[in-house]
Amino acid sequence: MESDGLEEFDFSQPLHYALSQLNADLYAGIEQEPHFETVHFPKPASLSAMAEEDDDERPPTTNEIIDDLVEKFDNYPKIVTTMMQRGLLKKRQQCRKCDRMMHLRRRKNCYEWRCRTKDKRGDCSSCSIKFGSWFEYTKLSFKTIFSFLIMHCKNCSTSHMANELKLSTHTVNETRKVVYDLTDKIASKYPRIGQNQGMVYIEVIRIEPKKANDFMYTILAGQEANSNNCFAVVMSDEMPSTIEKVKMEKVNSHSSVSMIKTVNENFTAYASQSATFFDESKVYSNPSDMFFTNLRKNHPESALNSEQAFQSWFNDQVVRKTEGKRMLEKCVEELRTYTTS
Ligand SMILES: [Zn+2]
Repeated sequence: MESDGLEEFDFSQPLHYALSQLNADLYAGIEQEPHFETVHFPKPASLSAMAEEDDDERPPTTNEIIDDLVEKFDNYPKIVTTMMQRGLLKKRQQCRKCDRMMHLRRRKNCYEWRCRTKDKRGDCSSCSIKFGSWFEYTKLSFKTIFSFLIMHCKNCSTSHMANELKLSTHTVNETRKVVYDLTDKIASKYPRIGQNQGMVYIEVIRIEPKKANDFMYTILAGQEANSNNCFAVVMSDEMPSTIEKVKMEKVNSHSSVSMIKTVNENFTAYASQSATFFDESKVYSNPSDMFFTNLRKNHPESALNSEQAFQSWFNDQVVRKTEGKRMLEKCVEELRTYTTS
């Protein structure tokens, strides 16, 4: 195993720590090309110490954290430090074999965690720096996965993302599933809609198969009349008892519910016979704001493979509608929940 020779160095000692900082400062003022050869890698222990620092008088806003991360895209050690400081990566890791605390080590152009055997002759265990965070589900670099998340929140198309990020369509689709894990979690934490006993619109929507082999799905969707709080649930069937069950899970029982249809034609794209027509285009000038209308459209082919994938696509739409421009912030905030569980 390669060694940087510094694992026994005690960086909690002020002088040692100061020396390591001095070393870092030599590079701080120099304009660097974003290549790993010229990026300064702090010693693992000093990176750990920096990650523990909390000298901010006020905690940064999520937007400030995002700006900070984007600025450090090309500097792996700095982005790792910031991600640890902000709770996006674990800053401490416990060995799964012996329960002792692990230490960071540098391996080539990245850091990883390891636990040394008691006789210091080898490793008891080691793991990726991504372990215990959302990032462990992807092999993409931090720069690429953050860019992916930003573009996903901005609703970029798969082909655009594939081009910009130099990924295959397959990888874009696979990475979307990783992002869907985030939006699934966010959507699952939303309370029932209609909390303020206001008016709630609900619609039964049939999604017709695009190709002969696709399934037909029916969903129940709902939105508060005076806010963007909403839900969309894939149903196993269209039985009144099933609709009632989803309604009880998703809508406050004290709200007044109005069954609507947002398509004014008698074809099977809507399912509720007793619904009143609701023209979303009269309410929203921007087509992207039309929640019910948009649920019928643009399902990616990969979403149609399974009910879970389809539900994830709807959860993403629900988070998009609920959060609006705050979607990226909400996602970054949710990233922190992975490192604490
Ligand atoms: Zn161990």
